[in-house]
Amino acid sequence: MTLSPLPPPRLKRAEPQRLAEHITLDHNLCLVCGRCIQACKEIQRVGAIDFVTRDGKIRIGPPRASSFKQAGCKFCGACVRICPTGAFALKKLRPKESDYGGRYLGRENYGNI
Ligand code: SF4
Repeated sequence: MTLSPLPPPRLKRAEPQRLAEHITLDHNLCLVCGRCIQACKEIQRVGAIDFVTRDGKIRIGPPRASSFKQAGCKFCGACVRICPTGAFALKKLRPKESDYGGRYLGRENYGNI
C-alpha cells in the first residue's frame, strides 16, 4: 500500500495592517524586538507604539487605543526606517497624473542628477 503525499498545511496568515495610506504593518514579519517602540518613544517622542497583548500573544500595537492614529501617530515613518525585517513598510504610491498637472515626472525629467 502506498500513501499519497499530503498537501502542505494551510497556514493562516494575517494580512498586513494598513496604518495610513503609505504605511503598513505585517505582524507575520515582526520579531517583537521593540526597536520601533524605542524609535517612536525616544527619538520621535510620540509613544504611539508599544507592546500589547492580543489573543494571548505579545505583539506591537497602539497602547491604550484602538488605532495608531488615536494613539497619536504622526505617520513620520521612523518605525519603517528602524525595522530590521520590513514588518513596518512603506507602500509605494503611484503618482496620479493630476498631482503633476497632468504630466508624470519620470526620471528623464530630472536631467543628469
Ligand atoms: S522594529 Fe520591526 S520587527 Fe521590531 S518590533 Fe517593531 S515592527 Fe517588529
